[in-house]
Amino acid sequence: MQCPSGEDRCCGVVLDSGEEIRSTLGVISTLPPQTLLPLIPEAWLSHDPSLKSMEALKPCEYISVYIWFDQKVSEGKQMWARTYNKDDLNCEFYDFSEIYPGSDGSGKPWKQRPSLIGSNIIDSGRLADMTDDEVIERTLREIQESFPLALEAKVLHTVVNRVPMAIHRPVVGTEKLRPEQRSSVRDFYVAGCWTKTDFPCSMESAARSGYLAADELLQLRGRESGSASSVAHCMLQAVRERLTNILCQHLSFCICVGMIQVAYCSRLMFQVGSKLVGSMQVTQVTNNSEKNLTRLKVEELVN
Ligand SMILES: Cc1cc2nc3c(=O)[nH]c(=O)nc-3n(C[C@H](O)[C@H](O)[C@H](O)COP(=O)(O)OP(=O)(O)OC[C@H]3O[C@@H](n4cnc5c(N)ncnc54)[C@H](O)[C@@H]3O)c2cc1C
Repeated sequence: MQCPSGEDRCCGVVLDSGEEIRSTLGVISTLPPQTLLPLIPEAWLSHDPSLKSMEALKPCEYISVYIWFDQKVSEGKQMWARTYNKDDLNCEFYDFSEIYPGSDGSGKPWKQRPSLIGSNIIDSGRLADMTDDEVIERTLREIQESFPLALEAKVLHTVVNRVPMAIHRPVVGTEKLRPEQRSSVRDFYVAGCWTKTDFPCSMESAARSGYLAADELLQLRGRESGSASSVAHCMLQAVRERLTNILCQHLSFCICVGMIQVAYCSRLMFQVGSKLVGSMQVTQVTNNSEKNLTRLKVEELVN
């Protein structure tokens, strides 16, 4: 909300009901760019090229699919993922009946409930013409490829949720479009995963943007930078832990692959020595019809 005096300063927000909320220290918007843009006075956009640049952030659409089954189907798995295949729909799957702690509204422990599987179709703009029924059918097939129990289970209920901008599209040239949290409009700040955080668009980026916006606001009010650091510290700690986990998983995966290769190479050299011909192929097999979990298949082709 522009100040009544008309100066380039943000004085608060106006709700749909017409109610005005006046700010004491400043306003931090956490709206997504496509929602925020039409609410910003034109004068502010022309005054601040950094704010205006959010117009150029292009959406990456997602579809979230939810399927309620009449029995457990995921063999106790909480989540699983498919490796990339351009013909696939879904990326990762979650069985919420295995994830949620405690009980549902009727007092039944979640663990005892039949599977409720949610999955994400990333960059789903390519599927704009696909009906919800087709999305469900293809998703069901992808679940059945991993878990044959889903072939005999009955589907009780489904939801297809189309998210117009889950994140912005991180294409070349996007980074310089992400605005700083502190705008050139006095007392107006923006936070959201799409703002400049040095992190890719993610929950971590969203949390960091909130910290950076609060820190900027507090600094302008005479507080030292880092006044909001206790939250930031927790958040950065979480990021560090998450990165360490990912690194460890990849490291053990690489070690496994390395060991298999060494074992097969030794055997192969022996066979080459005796037969004088041989070749080895190591393939990562995914999405096959028996069991769709990522695993290694080592094929040895020795004449
Ligand atoms: C299906 C899906 C799966 C994802 N998976 C992951 C993942 O595994 N890991 C990861 O790091 N990130 C993931 N993301 C991305 C992550 O959710 C976002 O990066 C993050 O939530 C962005 O946070 P934000 O605060 O910027 O925006 P949001 O979380 O979108 O918050 C914006 C808020 O503004 C509210 N709002 C919108 N319009 C109005 C209005 N007019 N008035 C009032 N309020 C309004 C919305 O309700 C929302 O609460 C996923 C996103 C989706 C959609």
